[in-house]
Amino acid sequence: MRALMLLGDKQLELTEIDPPPPPAAGEVQVRVKAVALNYLDVWGFRGMAFAKRKMPLVVGVEASGEIAAVGADVTGFTPGQGVVMYGALTCGTCKACRAGRDNLCENVGGIMGFHVDGFARELINLPARLVIPVPAGVSHTDAACAPIGFATVQHMLFDNAKLEPGETVLVHAGGSGIGTAAILMAKQIGCTVITTVGDDAKAEKAKALGADHVINYKTDRFEGVTRKLTQKKGVDVVFEHVGADTFNGSLLCLKRGGRLVTCGATSGPTVTFNLMQLFQQQYRIIGSFGATMKNIAESLDKMAAGLKPVIDTTVPLAAFERGLERLAGRQVFGKVVVTF
Ligand SMILES: [Zn+2]
Repeated sequence: MRALMLLGDKQLELTEIDPPPPPAAGEVQVRVKAVALNYLDVWGFRGMAFAKRKMPLVVGVEASGEIAAVGADVTGFTPGQGVVMYGALTCGTCKACRAGRDNLCENVGGIMGFHVDGFARELINLPARLVIPVPAGVSHTDAACAPIGFATVQHMLFDNAKLEPGETVLVHAGGSGIGTAAILMAKQIGCTVITTVGDDAKAEKAKALGADHVINYKTDRFEGVTRKLTQKKGVDVVFEHVGADTFNGSLLCLKRGGRLVTCGATSGPTVTFNLMQLFQQQYRIIGSFGATMKNIAESLDKMAAGLKPVIDTTVPLAAFERGLERLAGRQVFGKVVVTF
């Protein structure tokens, strides 16, 4: 069967590997249908010296598929059923796992497609507890965007930032996969959305998605425009994932007691900020990574109810690297999805 392997930094190869054995007790075998790309794939492709990971490595951190076979003692899954997979090998037994806080698992075995083999292969065996059914009417391409693209945002906005209807949120990089999802989810509950983009064509698309105010960060300073738009009060929530280039400006955009939630640092991981500003303004800065199984199910339910992820491009498996380049070049508006 086909698998896309990372042999070393920046060396991807489409290879033939042996298919997995029939699923063991407690496992299901999934036929992968679509893999959605994330910035984690870009970091993984370029190489991260500090990350402990095996090589060669099957890439792909976020995917959808259908059940190919069901092992003994597995109930609730039937062959042909659409599913998505949780992207980290959690233990299922620690305190965090038992509390449904899967992304805080104390014994996590690694992120699939980054530390350990991922989803860019035709068949994969997994513990059934890491597999989530896809509701009727959600395509494989859309479903592939649920485990990270949608669920990360669900976790950030609602579990962590506690975003409420009627609040104002600043969404950075509104054309990115998670930025587009954040605009959709915040508008769905009746928030005012301010977003940033890097060119005028993306500004039009962000408006079409429902953003109330779009700032081209290349021609305007987003913090100045945001303060003006909020009559100098600031926003309730900032949705951060840009990092070094925007973090201090993001803090300036917050109202007193405002919440900043961040899940990324695409422009760089190191910032200096003013602690007096932090405590005097009573900001809450919340780190967020991944999502829970529940967040993935919630995301799929939103898709089934009509909140479709924005797909920028679909490419075939052999063009995975071209998809990565498109993502890394910040040309995208929405998600890049690799189809099998
Ligand atoms: Zn655990």
